Amino acid sequence: MNPKPPALRLPPDALTRRRALACGVAGGALLTAPIHAASWLRDWLRSGDRNSAPGEVFKGDAPSDEVWRLWVARGWVREARHYLRLEPNVQCKVCPNNCLLTPGDRSHCRNKINRDGILYTLAYANPCTFHVDPIEKKPLFHYLPGTPTFSLATAGCVFRCLNCQNWEISQQKPEDTKDPRGPELRLRPPLPPTLTYADMRRLSLFPEDLAAVAVALRCPSVSYTYSEPTAYYEYAADCCRAARARGLRNILVTCGSIEERALRDLAASVDAAHVDLKGFSDDGYRRLNSGRLQPVLRTLKIYHELGVWFEVIHLVVPGYTDTREDLKRMCGWLVENLGPDRPLHFSRFHPQHKLEHLPPTPVETLLKARELARAAGLRHVYLGNVPGLPGAADTVCPHCRRVVIARSTYAVTRLELDAGRCRHCRQPIAGVWT
Ligand code: SF4
Repeated sequence: MNPKPPALRLPPDALTRRRALACGVAGGALLTAPIHAASWLRDWLRSGDRNSAPGEVFKGDAPSDEVWRLWVARGWVREARHYLRLEPNVQCKVCPNNCLLTPGDRSHCRNKINRDGILYTLAYANPCTFHVDPIEKKPLFHYLPGTPTFSLATAGCVFRCLNCQNWEISQQKPEDTKDPRGPELRLRPPLPPTLTYADMRRLSLFPEDLAAVAVALRCPSVSYTYSEPTAYYEYAADCCRAARARGLRNILVTCGSIEERALRDLAASVDAAHVDLKGFSDDGYRRLNSGRLQPVLRTLKIYHELGVWFEVIHLVVPGYTDTREDLKRMCGWLVENLGPDRPLHFSRFHPQHKLEHLPPTPVETLLKARELARAAGLRHVYLGNVPGLPGAADTVCPHCRRVVIARSTYAVTRLELDAGRCRHCRQPIAGVWT
């Protein structure tokens, strides 16, 4: 009789069928294009992140053949980056939603589809809005103060925030905001004097044209904002490269929920970021935003490690993200992991979208949050969306305590910095000033 074989002991990081299913590699061959699946799986197993079950997707919601053909003809389609081909399924690896799509499905962010076993983005060169904003509106307070930034967005978002300010674009699919029928309108210099709503719906803005438009508008930077750049990753990445080539800086205004590989790839051409830290617990993220905390904390650490300038924003929502306990833990984590000079903006909630029944954040709550942050050791703490509150948006020298940048709404009204140092005591102020 043959001896009983010894029980198989798997190393803790072995790829089991159960683990493969958890990360969405369900029954498909691991192929090498467009990202090397085996190396991605190795990263995933090492990361200790075992909670990345695929996010909900829109089954069978890919556009009809007619719309697809129009979209392709206009140049508004690109093959996605960072995904696994699992013939005939695909799995996106840009954000922790890890959408697993069968042919004909649409992604959680609404921007990607599986067509014949290939993942495509429909959010390419078709922004639904753009504008020239003061950089203070992002908000970024320690980065090129007083400069305009060319700001744009497409439809779609990786999150489902109950309090979303821009839900009319973030919770829409590209086909809801754009219509390629009619003559092509490609925006590039010389710029038309006006654009109507109908123009906006059919307008294209390709990466090289965007860079030329930003230069023509005398903007030293481009901001990917309003919705979520992770949801239009391929377009944002190409725009970043084109903008860099014209000497422009790139700014991401992001929820920070992105996979590490996709982030590092994109961050190579990003100069600054505004990262929303929407809460400080997974439960808070689940209730308010639909994401998770850990990927956002990882993003903050990676930007810090890479030396990309960034500022952290926390929206204080009554009953959701205003507990003393969470705020204290959050500030402690920021000081410990990012240092005392990382600017933190507490922003006031105003009733909107699915939280219209809530009151605005009491100013008293914001003042207490600022006190907690300062007590934790943070040197630059701002209060946003509270016009008229004295000192809420001013930058104070941490050494001599004098105001070095005074702001009113989004305008810089006084700037007392010389080459990044306080004009009064010569203390260096953290930031990128020129
Ligand atoms: S970027 Fe979009 S398609 Fe990709 S995983 Fe996130 S939600 Fe899904």
